[in-house]
Amino acid sequence: MRYNTLGIHLTNACPLTCDHCITDSSPRSRGDLSWEQIEGAVRSAATYVDGVCVTGGEPMLRPDLALATIRLTHDLGLRSSMVTSGYWARTPAKAAAVVAELVAAGLDKLAVSFDQFHLTQKTARFVGAGTLHHLLEAAAPTRMELVVQYCGTGGDEAHGIAESAAVRYGARLETAEVLPFGRGAALARRRDADMADVPTGPCGVVGRPILTPEVDFYTCCGPARGATVHSPLRLSIDSAAQAGSALAAASVDPIINSIHTRGPRALFDRLSSEARQRVSRNLRDSSMCSLCRAITDDEEAVSELRGELDREALRLVALSGVLHVAQDEEVARCHR
Ligand code: SF4
Ligand code: SF4
Repeated sequence: MRYNTLGIHLTNACPLTCDHCITDSSPRSRGDLSWEQIEGAVRSAATYVDGVCVTGGEPMLRPDLALATIRLTHDLGLRSSMVTSGYWARTPAKAAAVVAELVAAGLDKLAVSFDQFHLTQKTARFVGAGTLHHLLEAAAPTRMELVVQYCGTGGDEAHGIAESAAVRYGARLETAEVLPFGRGAALARRRDADMADVPTGPCGVVGRPILTPEVDFYTCCGPARGATVHSPLRLSIDSAAQAGSALAAASVDPIINSIHTRGPRALFDRLSSEARQRVSRNLRDSSMCSLCRAITDDEEAVSELRGELDREALRLVALSGVLHVAQDEEVARCHR
């Protein structure tokens, strides 16, 4: 499996305290990556990824680190991106100044998260239609790819603002669902979890690993954070500079590859009925990520799957051997 983007979770801190935040970020959150850790991770992972994304928390609370990471990514010939709440775009002049710094550092893609949770929380003074418009207006004339990331079910005030701003400034609108992790767990408890409703198909996020300020390393920038030590989603490293070797090992992990090509539902279907019952009981909601975490956090289910996938790989090797023999015999017959 080829990795797409290495996420650098610069800081846990954020000026906002959104109710759905999967990283549990807030102004009180502590924990930053150091420059040495960032540089070590980016340089070691450079061979395995196409790009680097600075994120958080709010990466622009640590502007020097964010800009240095973008510069390093650019110098290594990789594509750089940033996810921000855009809280810093309080005035058109401030937005223009920060966007100019990002462009000068070599940023290729700027994604601004904007949804109803941003608008309705206590620190709502930090974001609103004004900050979104200032940011997009300043960034629209640049060469950067622009994305507005909306999280929710649509039909609320924020969705209308996000949609019209995206159209006006030529940004792409991406929509995601609220997930039952971090502070989002409290919202999910009010929802039903039903295996029949869990989407089928592959996960497109599993090839986007992320390094956290705790120097934990996960194979997806979704809700893998907090996965158990036995989980295949948690990649084992002793230091940030081992990120590259961890990615090399993970790229041949059959469970990670199966999530990437077939998805968590296909893994679920391969489990024994006992494991399926256990995993179903641990579903937090009917999202793909909830099923993925319920499977990968279950040590016995992981062990079952490893056995199953190893047997499948052996069957394929054996089958290809039979085919080779058959083809060789056919070729030999043709030459007689
Ligand atoms: S802006 Fe993003 S990182 Fe900050 S609290 Fe909200 S969801 Fe979390
Ligand atoms: S399905 Fe699994 S690998 Fe994919 S984003 Fe969700 S938790 Fe991560």
